Amino acid sequence: MRLSLSVLSSVAITWFTAASVLAQGAAAPADTLNDPVRIMVSQLTLDRYKNTVKGLTQFGDRRQGTKRNRDAVDWIEAQLKSYGCATERIVYEYNPAPRQPNPAAGRGGAAGGRGAAGGRGGAPSNNAQGGGRYRGIRARTGVNNDSLKQPDPAIRAIDTEQTTNGERQEVYCTKVGSTHPEEMYIVGGHMDGIGWGQAANDDGSGTAIVMELARIFSDPNVVTDRTIRFALWNNEESGLDGAKAYVAQRQALQGKESPAGSGKYPEPKWLGMIQHDMMMWDHGAPRADGTVSPEQRPEADVNIEFQSTAKMADGANKLAWFFQTANEKYATDYPARVGQHMTNTDSDPFKDIVPAISLRENERGEQIGAGWDPNWHQPTDVFTTYTDKDFRLGMNAAQTTLAAIAQLTGAKLKK
Ligand SMILES: [Zn+2]
Repeated sequence: MRLSLSVLSSVAITWFTAASVLAQGAAAPADTLNDPVRIMVSQLTLDRYKNTVKGLTQFGDRRQGTKRNRDAVDWIEAQLKSYGCATERIVYEYNPAPRQPNPAAGRGGAAGGRGAAGGRGGAPSNNAQGGGRYRGIRARTGVNNDSLKQPDPAIRAIDTEQTTNGERQEVYCTKVGSTHPEEMYIVGGHMDGIGWGQAANDDGSGTAIVMELARIFSDPNVVTDRTIRFALWNNEESGLDGAKAYVAQRQALQGKESPAGSGKYPEPKWLGMIQHDMMMWDHGAPRADGTVSPEQRPEADVNIEFQSTAKMADGANKLAWFFQTANEKYATDYPARVGQHMTNTDSDPFKDIVPAISLRENERGEQIGAGWDPNWHQPTDVFTTYTDKDFRLGMNAAQTTLAAIAQLTGAKLKK
């Protein structure tokens, strides 16, 4: 990939904190033709995004603790290296106690009753996970554990190996800042999935965003003041265990130069964490019969969420609005909305430490939790389920994060 237009300098804004971000707004360079952010955003194409999602789906649902998951980690690392992004791995153990049989497993989780507002058996079910309230019609949600529900024998065969306890690995790569290598933003998505499909949307769609951004920022023609780390979390579906391992191993290393005097910072100080999880499907609420429209709704949007109860909620709120503004300016097709109930994804272990946000196709609690995505953890979460309108929503989320992070890190083009 080349950034070939003859250009220009910097966004000419130095960003330090979320507070200064808000104070300055998204000030545009006077020269919009040569705006480096716009040029970088133009390097994202629908075909490349789709191809990256497709590449991930060759490993089926990439369930943690299986060979197909390890093969996917290897494949992702090879792609990141081919982009020129230097990779490293986090190694950790995952040894959960055996699960008790769950009588409700077959029919799924919170929203048992199809088509009815409110859940099963008198549970206090109007409160969505992460905060907020369920409204209107809810459809069943849950995790498919039945191999026979996957109609494609090839996919069923790939997904057959079950998870076993033991060592886990996850990969990240880093774009080192030129003037402030000691500070960084973390851009993440989870590469593991479940449900006897291909985890194309959950979370091939978010993983592909992180990989595409790693590709564009790693171009030798791109220079950033601050560091960016691109993280492909493992074990999200088991309970955010890969992201938790990263925090546990690396939080205390932040901002330390090592070796002393080298100018190298193995773990730059965290400025913010941005997670991407389920990026393509926004077909609206379930209808009275419990089904969801087969078409992307015209009002589809990117949902940017922070968590209002987090210790760093104030900074996360500002970061979320900065992303919304970046979307207004740079995303080509779909708008973005801000919500305050971020939950159930890898930004969660970061949210009390640094400003952390998630980008999604829908609000996680009151929309996805109410059955807005019928492919969620199901055998239908395969590449062929999605149309270009769906892939385009994911690409617009990529445009949003690319534009925001380029400004936050002072990205510029050498020529
Ligand atoms: Zn997910």
